[in-house]
Amino acid sequence: MNKKYTKCNGPNYSYSKLKDDCDSTVSFQDSCSSNMPQKEKLMKSAHYIELGGSYQYWPVLVPRGIRLYTYEQIPVFLRDNPYITDGYRAYLPSRLCIKSLFILSNETVNIWSHLLGFLLFFTMGIYDMVSVLPGTGASREDYVIYSIGLFCFQLCLLCSVGFHLFCCHRSEKTGRRWMALDYAGIFIGTLGCYVPGVFHAFYCNNYWRQVYLVTVLAMILAVFFAQIHPHYLSKQWQHLRSVMFCSVAGYSVIPTLHWVWLNGGFSSELVQAFIPRVLGMYAIAALAFVFYVSKVPERYFPGQLNYLGSSHQVWHVLLVLMFYWWHRSALLILDYRHTHPCPDLHMHT
Ligand SMILES: [Zn+2]
Repeated sequence: MNKKYTKCNGPNYSYSKLKDDCDSTVSFQDSCSSNMPQKEKLMKSAHYIELGGSYQYWPVLVPRGIRLYTYEQIPVFLRDNPYITDGYRAYLPSRLCIKSLFILSNETVNIWSHLLGFLLFFTMGIYDMVSVLPGTGASREDYVIYSIGLFCFQLCLLCSVGFHLFCCHRSEKTGRRWMALDYAGIFIGTLGCYVPGVFHAFYCNNYWRQVYLVTVLAMILAVFFAQIHPHYLSKQWQHLRSVMFCSVAGYSVIPTLHWVWLNGGFSSELVQAFIPRVLGMYAIAALAFVFYVSKVPERYFPGQLNYLGSSHQVWHVLLVLMFYWWHRSALLILDYRHTHPCPDLHMHT
């Protein structure tokens, strides 16, 4: 049974028992003149959604017009992970997609993890610009590179928020456009890691700095062009998309090893100071990718991690952590560069 209740004032909300898939909907209007206390009203009208596993039942407030669907009920283009069995939003117009930001669905953690991540980098950017960078004696060039890195991270996170918010759009075309932006966002985020990394690692070597920045930019532009291909977002190209991502990310091993060699090998003070930051970055990125492709842990607990604890949520959190880790590393190496000026010998090679 699916019961709907309408509040007297403000926006309309329905409190639906979403687990039931019954067509007979009973709706009625609460009496507006009722002097029932607010809490009592809520108690009367709140319903509980079964989350499965150890969560049991949680109260959920759902705006009118939104309901959640099972994996079998959603359109084919939304079916990506059969181990997430329930809690899907679907068939929504843009207005309700935005409203669904405030309901509990299987995308809630995905949306909010990157929305909060975006806000973190946005506030951190302002704080660093005002109080951290001036203290390091950063040049105008440093400010530009710093801003590019941070801007890429924020754009990547916003594209992801947009996709997870609008993937449930009633128009498949709109959903797919957001999906394309989400994929593009991952490469923009990768560019945001490369630019400050290469810039600071080859701070004293203009030639190699330009070589690596240009090759990275060319690779990412090539991926963007590949996205125009009509099959890019198809399931058949899923493997190829992973290969492209691994190639762009894996390319970083070449400038890293070159940087180690140019600075006197693993025994040098500079390399020993910063190689743990680089290895930490690789470890987080590899872990994130493993969760992304393997669909672990929900693969072993199908239907139990629909709302919390799924692999895509872990991937989202690790992505924010990775950006934060790399951002702090860039600030450390920037500080190092200003306290250890380049030897003239390498400046123009
Ligand atoms: Zn995502």
